[in-house]
Amino acid sequence: MNVILFGAPGAGKGTQSSLMIERLGMKQISTGDLFRAAIKNQTDLGKKAQEYMDKGQLVPDSIVIGMVEEVLKGETKEFILDGFPRTVAQAQALDELLRKLGLSVGKAIFLEVPMEILMDRLTGRRVCKSCGAVYHVTSKPPKMAGVCDLCGGEVYQRNDDKAEVIGTRLKTYEEFTSPLKSFYKDAGKYVEVDGDRATESVYKDIERIVL
Ligand code: AMP
Repeated sequence: MNVILFGAPGAGKGTQSSLMIERLGMKQISTGDLFRAAIKNQTDLGKKAQEYMDKGQLVPDSIVIGMVEEVLKGETKEFILDGFPRTVAQAQALDELLRKLGLSVGKAIFLEVPMEILMDRLTGRRVCKSCGAVYHVTSKPPKMAGVCDLCGGEVYQRNDDKAEVIGTRLKTYEEFTSPLKSFYKDAGKYVEVDGDRATESVYKDIERIVL
């Protein structure tokens, strides 16, 4: 089943997606990762997206939707949409896109995590520049400081995980992404998972929904 994984920044979408890839053979389509790759490669899309990302703002819908369309075209594996849609306009565009491509999404899984926990997760989050593995300064540090356990890549703090940007990202989430709950409830696809638990417990719930 194709699914949407949504929730606030720091809710654990990336971590859970990694497990779903590893154990269920699904494909992750993360708009944040796609933008970060475009920034790394200094493409026009990357340069445009960076202006918004560095400020903690959403990249305009027209840019995001075009990018997702390119990725979804010809998609054959079961996929997880991670970080998309993030606005109701994107959700409506996604419905249209899926119809056009003859695809569908079975569930929209919302990861629920309290605000104070999100702050700690985001300020402490560190990520591998090469493979995207996620660490945390206190709860999950890499064995060697600054070096990824999995691939030896550089572990760094994302620009938008700096304290001054996090506030804007969380506010943006409340204003634009939170309304997706009603959108997917109305569509009969909404499922809520308590994301404030051990990674494995959260994963077990998600697996039950997906399988
Ligand atoms: P993420 O890795 O999902 O936290 O995304 C990082 C940043 O990329 C966000 O703060 C936005 O600036 C941008 N971004 C990712 N996905 C979207 C989206 N669906 N719509 C607009 N902006 C996005």
